[in-house]
Amino acid sequence: MDVLSHAVAGERLSADELRELYSLPLPEVAAAANELRLKRSNPQVVTYLIDRNINYTNICNVACNFCAFYRTGKQKDAYVLSFPQIGQKIEELMNIGGRRILMQGGVNPDLPFEWYLDLLRYLKQQYPEVRIDAFSPEEILGLEKITGRDSLELLTRLKEAGLDGLPGAGGEILVDEVRAKAAPARIKSSDWFRILQTAQGLGLYTIASMVIGFGETYEQRVAHLIKIRDQQDRAMSQYGQGFAAFAMWTLQTEHTRLKGKAPGATAHEYLQQLAIARIALDNIPNLQASWPSMGFKVAQVALYYGANDFGSTMLEENVVSVAAGHHRTHATVRQIVRHISDAGFTPAERDPFYNIRQYPDVQAILNEKPPVAQPLA
Ligand code: SF4
Repeated sequence: MDVLSHAVAGERLSADELRELYSLPLPEVAAAANELRLKRSNPQVVTYLIDRNINYTNICNVACNFCAFYRTGKQKDAYVLSFPQIGQKIEELMNIGGRRILMQGGVNPDLPFEWYLDLLRYLKQQYPEVRIDAFSPEEILGLEKITGRDSLELLTRLKEAGLDGLPGAGGEILVDEVRAKAAPARIKSSDWFRILQTAQGLGLYTIASMVIGFGETYEQRVAHLIKIRDQQDRAMSQYGQGFAAFAMWTLQTEHTRLKGKAPGATAHEYLQQLAIARIALDNIPNLQASWPSMGFKVAQVALYYGANDFGSTMLEENVVSVAAGHHRTHATVRQIVRHISDAGFTPAERDPFYNIRQYPDVQAILNEKPPVAQPLA
């Protein structure tokens, strides 16, 4: 039996078998990935989430070479949002029916731990119905250094103050050789897994992430996928819950120090890697398409390469868009619904755990006049 037949038959592929997938014609790999996607998630439906990104500070002392978002504390446009400013952004989200924020920032050495606790308490008191998925493993590592406390204590207290989830940003390629070149001070892969495992043990929502285009080898990409798969096995067996989804996107270098030094990834590479991720990650049912990095049109095609989810509205994506120098900072529900339904699927609004909240009235949404300032990229 060849490697794709093994995969479609539901067998777990080894590292060598996954490596072999990169040498096969993409349409064949895609067909296998699509078959697995149809088996592992609702075959008629593509989901999406109405949410908002909030970047509470851009001050950061990690200084990743691939980041155009961060500032030092001395730069003129460095900022820390006030609690009411963050609240106002939440109200804008609630006005369009969203009830979840993804709140992340730089590793700001001037913000004490109490500031985070006060922020969560304030937001939960003002907006009790809004879920707060916030802070990356990198930010928690920064708090470990500032406070001298470990992630278990920090996350326990953050959860008590209102934290609902710890998204798994900062995964990139979880092989330290790749990470050291792209960002010498970046969180090591062992700490990334340690902190997310702690979050999973506390019942916090998490997702797994991957970024390609650093010049990493296929072996390193496979190593990344297998580490994620192993962690999911561990979390499921120990806690009965693990990563709610896998999100993958491509490195954007245009306005970063990696411009001209890292290759990034083409649409073909993105789709190939997405399909291979679908085949490799037999224990994570939900894979997101990435409109912020690839645009709506490639994200739509990704629905036939293993993705069963169109991501979220975001409203204010500041990190990928700034690095890339494009303006894909948000998606409207109309844009998402249009791309899902044109691809032949039923759009469904979900919650962060991929439970369906509602099936929107597609025709009514498509009949709405599109806002002039929001071109379909
Ligand atoms: S990617 Fe995150 S940790 Fe790295 S410099 Fe940017 S804000 Fe800081």
